[in-house]
Amino acid sequence: MDPRRLACLDAMGIPAWSRRPDRELPGAPPRAVEPAGRPRSEPAHAPRAGGESVGDLDWRSLEARVSTCTRCPLHAGRTRSVFGVGSRNADWLIIGEAPGAEEDRRGEPFVGRAGKLLDAMLAALGFARDQVYIANVVKCRPPENRDPRPEEAASCAPYLDRQIDLLAPRIILAVGRVAAQRLLQADTPVGRLRGRIHRYGPSGIPLVVTWHPAYLLRRPEAKADAWRDLVLAARAAAGGDVEGVRQV
Ligand code: URA
Repeated sequence: MDPRRLACLDAMGIPAWSRRPDRELPGAPPRAVEPAGRPRSEPAHAPRAGGESVGDLDWRSLEARVSTCTRCPLHAGRTRSVFGVGSRNADWLIIGEAPGAEEDRRGEPFVGRAGKLLDAMLAALGFARDQVYIANVVKCRPPENRDPRPEEAASCAPYLDRQIDLLAPRIILAVGRVAAQRLLQADTPVGRLRGRIHRYGPSGIPLVVTWHPAYLLRRPEAKADAWRDLVLAARAAAGGDVEGVRQV
């Protein structure tokens, strides 16, 4: 295994893992872009006072719309909205919860301590941060880093839905409870959602749930679970046969 990847695994506290020769990880064959699903939070062509509906916006207009959004009270406390970062052609979409203090200051998701761990997890798979796309369920920071409220997540839902449609990723990695429950419309705990492939949206994008990096910082012993989830996600992204696989 290449020494950089070994060092990343070490940073995650994961024992060295070697690829089986029959598995292609994480690089996937060139993909046929699936047709984007329709936004699920509002009809794609819903009339909207003063402009196009979110479901019709391109990346640039969507980012601009988010930066001036006042759909929920969180806008009042933000320094900047945190739209998302990474490659808009990425195969991998990582979805977290909401910006924290550092993210709110910098306008970029996952730049604090949890973000460093997320970077190490991605690096262990062979990805730099700019080779994936990273976004949150909620684009503005909730006060005192509390969890976003359901109505706040619902206000932001058209934006995340449109990001998913525009990106049409090969795999969605939902990190933590808020992302997992919002995307799967469930109230099941993360521990019961992880370890298997879910399908998201009309085009059935594979979705894997894993622990939030902030949780992993508090419970390092759960990093081995997270690594298994990443490997499962990599297999799904590479088009491996993961139907019915349950890996906990
Ligand atoms: N936690 C998240 O879920 N998202 C961030 O951007 C930062 C921390």
